[in-house]
Amino acid sequence: MDRYAVIGHPVEHSKSPLIHAAFAQQTGQQLEYGKVQAPLDGFVAIVTDLQEKGYRGVNVTVPFKFEAYSLATELTPRARDAGAVNTLTFTDGAIHGDNTDGVGLVRDILQNLAFTLAGKRVLLLGAGGAAEGVLGPLLEASPLSLCIANRTVDKAEAMVARVRPGQTSLDARGFDALADQEFDVVINATSSGLHNERLPLPSGLFAADALAYDMMYGRETPFMRYAREEGASRIADGLGMLVEQAAEAFYIWRRVRPDTAPVMAALRAA
Ligand code: NDP
Repeated sequence: MDRYAVIGHPVEHSKSPLIHAAFAQQTGQQLEYGKVQAPLDGFVAIVTDLQEKGYRGVNVTVPFKFEAYSLATELTPRARDAGAVNTLTFTDGAIHGDNTDGVGLVRDILQNLAFTLAGKRVLLLGAGGAAEGVLGPLLEASPLSLCIANRTVDKAEAMVARVRPGQTSLDARGFDALADQEFDVVINATSSGLHNERLPLPSGLFAADALAYDMMYGRETPFMRYAREEGASRIADGLGMLVEQAAEAFYIWRRVRPDTAPVMAALRAA
């Protein structure tokens, strides 16, 4: 039986084992998928141990995506662009690193939510690992403009500075410089919701028919509540992104693309 796992700290809450078990059952793949909590200073030792035990790959979650990037001996272009890795594959002593977060988010928005990004004004809140991971795929969807706003403005500016010039106009700012701005899509990629903290966002951010998307899932976050109070037309949590990024990792490992819709429906029902 091929073995896989998700590594994080904490990891107890992770739905990845449920999702991969559902994909395996649906596609007739023989595999086991567990969860492993690594000590904060023990990520590399845990990965090495799993590799020696014959595991075929791992997903990596908070806070180890940057360490996974450094550990990979080979990187896909999208992982290199992101500077962060959430999917490791072990083959013949090599460690392949990929990042499926961005493709997961964009598929959820375009396919599951049937919302267009092309030509839209997008606001990305946050400049951590998740924001880095989704930046490239978001730009590939050709928005009119992309503004990155972060509490630590330098990090947003550094992200913008790394992007190769393209058709989308880009800028970085702090939350206090968002007043009088309007967006068609606002994506919360901060971890503020984990601590139930409200972002200092001004009123009037959402254009007519705007989408508010929080990468967190499982409950209404302060950002989702703010979007509701502000009258955003569509409000989505990150469950679809979670399932879509898992489907892409499953495809990398098994070369079979699972149907995500029934898995998402089952998770929502649960
Ligand atoms: P990081 O720790 O790398 O980054 C955290 C970001 O949140 C930084 O931009 C940080 O700002 C900001 N932040 C944290 N607290 C606050 C606050 N109180 N006010 C304002 N800004 C704040 O985390 P990740 O990028 O890895 O994860 C971000 C979120 O995305 C998490 O909630 C995670 O669960 C979710 N996620 C969901 C996925 C899914 O599949 N649905 C996939 C990946 C992530 P600063 O730079 O100033 O510190």
